[in-house]
Amino acid sequence: MRRKLAAGNWKMNGRAPDLDQIDALEAAHGDAGVDILICPPAPLLSRMAERARKIAVGGQDCHANASGAHTGDTSADMLVDAGASHVILGHSERRTDHGETDDDVRAKARAAFEAGLIAVICVGETLGEREAANTLDIISGQLAGSIPDTANGTNMVVAYEPVWAIGTGLVPSTDQIGEVHDFIRSKLEARFGEGVGRSVRLLYGGSVKGSNAAEIFAVSNVDGALVGGASLTADAFSPIITALDAS
Ligand code: PEP
Repeated sequence: MRRKLAAGNWKMNGRAPDLDQIDALEAAHGDAGVDILICPPAPLLSRMAERARKIAVGGQDCHANASGAHTGDTSADMLVDAGASHVILGHSERRTDHGETDDDVRAKARAAFEAGLIAVICVGETLGEREAANTLDIISGQLAGSIPDTANGTNMVVAYEPVWAIGTGLVPSTDQIGEVHDFIRSKLEARFGEGVGRSVRLLYGGSVKGSNAAEIFAVSNVDGALVGGASLTADAFSPIITALDAS
């Protein structure tokens, strides 16, 4: 049985007063039957982790090395030290803005596993790749390249995030989401064996809102969501958590 996960990616948003959102989420969903994760920007991480009681806190990236001359970077071990239990890796904004490759993501994931973090590894096609009917090939390549051999259902979550749906208000049809999630499940089972493949949680991400969450969570092999914009306030994130809990 896979425990459902509602994950929020605050991206480069949030200041100290926004930590109040954590209190509001915990008050509303402290007894939820799903896991809740918020990944704030690095400067807020330790303060959020100190404040959160039931909500897990994660980083948005980590370096592949444990320490050294890497100005501006954060190691997986430092995220753990700050109170993180998870880290998002391979988000399309990292792949695009920072040129991260599948090899980079795999190296970071290895570092995350070694530090004891759960890696939320993101994959997803661009609009051009979907229109050229290359979606499944792209996903297949990203899964093969970005996921280390040591991954399993305990140390990894996979997020399917079509690049064209992130922050755009566009959402794939439930058939399109189901096709990709079933495909990811089959690829994980083929590579890691049925037991491990079935234990990995698969999140959908891309313009999830309170108004579309229930229909997305009804799709097979959707175990939760990775949410950007609608995770920034408790008011917007709360209906998504409620829909997941009810699914
Ligand atoms: C994301 O950045 O992971 C994301 C899914 O963003 P949004 O929900 O805003 O589309």
